[in-house]
Amino acid sequence: MARKARRLRMNSQYLLVTLLKKSLRHPVVHDSVWESGRKFWCPFCQKEVNRHWTSDNETVQNGGFLEHLSSKEHHRNSYKFWRQNHLNEERRGKILLREELIDKFEAKSEKAMVTYREEKQNSLKKAADELKLEEDSRWRMAWHHEQMVGLTLALYCGF
Ligand SMILES: [Zn+2]
Repeated sequence: MARKARRLRMNSQYLLVTLLKKSLRHPVVHDSVWESGRKFWCPFCQKEVNRHWTSDNETVQNGGFLEHLSSKEHHRNSYKFWRQNHLNEERRGKILLREELIDKFEAKSEKAMVTYREEKQNSLKKAADELKLEEDSRWRMAWHHEQMVGLTLALYCGF
């Protein structure tokens, strides 16, 4: 029973890692407060690790998790775990990441952060432009109204 439960837990770990490894291809960037401080528990290293990469302005989703999978510490600890539990060595590859992949991910993340910053600036500029247009329109309407009142007074009261 305990063995079955452990196997089930291991399968869910594999599934989670497989899903999160998909982040490698397309880094997703959020603002710096998105899921701030979120951690994940690595059962092989027996410790908590930051789930995301966070800078002053941006967060790269799952960056910390992926970096951990590529770390020497995680490779070493998973090796020990596999030996102690007599697990199938082939499956260990599923929970590891090669160092060059995390380097590529880092380069892609930097580009994605630049794009994110540009898009954010563009949307702020667009919102500011819309606000200015709205104010101009309101001012023009107020001016037009004032002119009409003045004209009406002139016509009826002889001002
Ligand atoms: Zn680990």
